[in-house]
Amino acid sequence: MTTSGGSGHSGARGSLTGGKVSPRASTFLGLPTAPRGAGHLRGGEPFPVAARRGLADTQLRRNLAKATAGIRAKRAAVVGEVPDWEELREAGRAIKAETMAHLDRYLEQLETQVTARGGVVHWARDANEANEIVVSLVRGAGAVQVHDVVKVKSIVTDEIGLNEALARAGIQAHETDLAELIVQLGNDWPSHILVPAIHRNRAEIREIFLRRMGDVDPGLTDDPAALAEAARLHLRRRFLSARVGISGANFAVAQTGALCVVESEGNGRMCLTLPDTLITVMGIEKVVPAWRDLEVFLQLLPRSSTGERMNPYTSIWTGVTPGDGPQEFHLVLLDNGRTAALADETGRSALHCIRCSACLNVCPVYERTGGHAYGSIYPGPIGAILSPQLTGIEDNASLPYASSLCGACYDVCPVKIDIPSILVHLRARHVEAERAARRLPSQEAVTMAAASWVMAARGRYVAAQRAGRLGRALARHGRIRRLPPPLSAWTGSRDAPVPPAETFRQWCARRYSAASGWRSVRAVRTRVAVRAPADPLARRPKAAPPAARWMGAR
Ligand code: SF4
Repeated sequence: MTTSGGSGHSGARGSLTGGKVSPRASTFLGLPTAPRGAGHLRGGEPFPVAARRGLADTQLRRNLAKATAGIRAKRAAVVGEVPDWEELREAGRAIKAETMAHLDRYLEQLETQVTARGGVVHWARDANEANEIVVSLVRGAGAVQVHDVVKVKSIVTDEIGLNEALARAGIQAHETDLAELIVQLGNDWPSHILVPAIHRNRAEIREIFLRRMGDVDPGLTDDPAALAEAARLHLRRRFLSARVGISGANFAVAQTGALCVVESEGNGRMCLTLPDTLITVMGIEKVVPAWRDLEVFLQLLPRSSTGERMNPYTSIWTGVTPGDGPQEFHLVLLDNGRTAALADETGRSALHCIRCSACLNVCPVYERTGGHAYGSIYPGPIGAILSPQLTGIEDNASLPYASSLCGACYDVCPVKIDIPSILVHLRARHVEAERAARRLPSQEAVTMAAASWVMAARGRYVAAQRAGRLGRALARHGRIRRLPPPLSAWTGSRDAPVPPAETFRQWCARRYSAASGWRSVRAVRTRVAVRAPADPLARRPKAAPPAARWMGAR
């Protein structure tokens, strides 16, 4: 039990201990991963199955292609304006790495500062604890029972399934971000970190508003301004009557206890200032050490996310101010698998993410399958490395494979998260976990062992090549579309190449034997080796490498 301000909720703080400065975190590592049955980090089916549905939806693909192409172009234009963009990225990476190495210290500092300014800090080990904390806070807010709360977009509350937990307690959460409102009214689910309704077009949004928004003008058109105005009028009543607001946080400054939310519509400002009680739910990785660090992130984030030079609304608040804004402020610090991710020295940089969504917008896989295929509330490349670490690799095993490893995500990431390397690392972890869990070797392991045995002896290899030529009989129009098991796993999603009529060795032997009477590849190899001109540098054992020689000459 470690809370400040007397909330009385148990939390994870006791397991985060102080430590000395070191690139290796001194934090106690290895808390459990996010629990099953709570929140939205696991899909009901593996990525390849869900992706097929997205690929078959031409409307979805059209919507995604149009939206992501537009955001990509805007981002590229504004990033190109900043001469020291790479230095900014490096600064963002360094701040995050330093924060993760001393997360325990910064979280305790944050708690001290928030408490000193009239806020109450709660520590939630996982989704269940966080939901319990928020529900009890809403129930206890004021003398009159609260049945409604307003929310500003907070992906972490989607992660823990807060809306459902509130609904079970008889409390209705009203999303106030336009895209979140569309998703909520449509009984839908976000498919993008920043633009949750990216899979919907204007006509679909109009239809949802007409069907689900009781107070909407029946003559509503699909003009964007008309749709925004309808949402504005609908939400205004909610804002003015709400007594409790719930938010996420983009950043929390350990040095001062200040919380920061950036958004584009002004709904965040209303949620953060009008209600009597404000509850902020924040993942523990969102803390930054000092106020000056915001300078870096408030440049990186808007340009990488919406392609804007700065966000239209940046709200920063510190504790409680008598007579101004909410008079009660609660900060819920959530673990939910984050310290488990922190324990992985390669994978932990996924916690550096500032949720800009640039990696989603450039990802060729995301653009074609859409966000729902990932199953988790975190889609795209960042979801493919974050979700498996939060849940444990076994619960999201297909996600690290949902990538072509093209590296576009790494190139655009404002905090330089090496997503491709982490994907490969997580694939290795999955393979190792599978291997450890099996009593019998897998089909793949048997195939690889057989291939290794064949390739270990020249005679076996040549015989296998000869046998492979029989596969030519299966070819139709220059392709092999179906192979028998176990090779059917390959042709299940792609064609197999047709074996050539003769192997390279046969071609080589035929060609050289025709020219000179040589009989075998071994003979060819011997003659070529004898005749090859000697490398002059090879006779100089201490010669400087080419780059050093080049530099020495200049
Ligand atoms: S991984 Fe990088 S690019 Fe992707 S959302 Fe996070 S910060 Fe943005």
